[in-house]
Amino acid sequence: MVKISERVNAMQQSAAILVDQKVRELSIAGRDIIGLGSGEPDFDTPEHIKDAALAAIRAGKTKYTAVDGIPELKAAIKKKFYIENNLSFDISQISVGAGGKQIIANAFAATLNPGDEVIIPAPYWVTYPDSLKVWGGKPVIVECSQTQNFKMSPGQLKAVINDKTKWLIINSPSNPSGAMYDANELKGIADVLINYPQVNIMTDDIYEHIVFDNRPFVTINQIAPELAGRTLIVNGVSKTYCMTGWRIGYGAGPVEIIKAMAKIQGQTTTHPSSISQHAAVGALTGEQKFITTHVEAYQRRRDTVVKALNETDGINCLTPEGAFYVYPSCAGSINKIAPNGMCIETDEKFALALLECEGVAVVHGEAFGLSPHFRMTTAAADEKLKEACIRIQRFCKNLV
Ligand code: PLP
Repeated sequence: MVKISERVNAMQQSAAILVDQKVRELSIAGRDIIGLGSGEPDFDTPEHIKDAALAAIRAGKTKYTAVDGIPELKAAIKKKFYIENNLSFDISQISVGAGGKQIIANAFAATLNPGDEVIIPAPYWVTYPDSLKVWGGKPVIVECSQTQNFKMSPGQLKAVINDKTKWLIINSPSNPSGAMYDANELKGIADVLINYPQVNIMTDDIYEHIVFDNRPFVTINQIAPELAGRTLIVNGVSKTYCMTGWRIGYGAGPVEIIKAMAKIQGQTTTHPSSISQHAAVGALTGEQKFITTHVEAYQRRRDTVVKALNETDGINCLTPEGAFYVYPSCAGSINKIAPNGMCIETDEKFALALLECEGVAVVHGEAFGLSPHFRMTTAAADEKLKEACIRIQRFCKNLV
């Protein structure tokens, strides 16, 4: 039998991907399942982006490209940062990979030595801890509860930051909580970071455009330009442009990290798909009006879901400021018995029983490092979300 490496054995599979697989299996078996576990827009990729890809195919843009991005795409990214964030990057500070996920993996691979610590505020996107553990990095989880709006305070950062800290991860708007740091909150975090010059900052801005109630989006480079020399911005086209399957993400930051990331990419995937890169140029340089329409839909759905969940026995849901998830607490359901006889000892049991009893698939909070909660996507049709909420209400009412 082939022996798998200890590092990979220590890794967990993505909980969101596992829930998706389960939804597929149950649906094939004929169950009426509402899958709200995944993290992707339900809208199709806009036509003008598909056209850019088709044009690239027809023009024969089907060969190997530069390792970390075609010049046209890097130029489009540079322009995006300048226009949207008022940040100036040189082309040499930009790296394109097969999704934000690969950019994050490349950055960890490029910088981590065994024992290096990475501070991750929880709840966090499931991938961060496992992506860094492969390289011997040590996740340092900071629990940021619902009572503090799922955001880390400067005091909490101060309590865990030390000489071994290599990175701090900021993800705003957050997957799974939808919490967003405002300029003041980022300033508080930056003031702590100033005193630790060896700490790099990874700011995952992938939900930058999915913000509600006209809140302004801010990234830490805008608040603390003095940290720019050690900040890597992670972003991508998956969420804003409904391009999850195209696999294009990008990073912008210090040249030395960007160069090391290219070295890794050159020896692993070589580069992301040439056709997807051209489609991403179409996305970043094409018309952007549809984004507003999508955000309006996400906001409307957020409002419907938050209201319904807060009318549900034992559930308490904060109103997300961005992204397309809700992260309600199910503390009021813990230790109750579900109609299938299962005792809801944990949020994992809550999600399992909900799936078995009512066919609604959500991801348990433990996977995101903060319990007892569950994550439910709001990137689904209004009717589907309404039906899911009716089922969750019935499920919770029937708990004894
Ligand atoms: N960062 C966060 C917070 C995410 O939620 C995701 C996807 O779910 C990603 C990064 C990576 O997205 P992609 O690899 O599709 O660019």
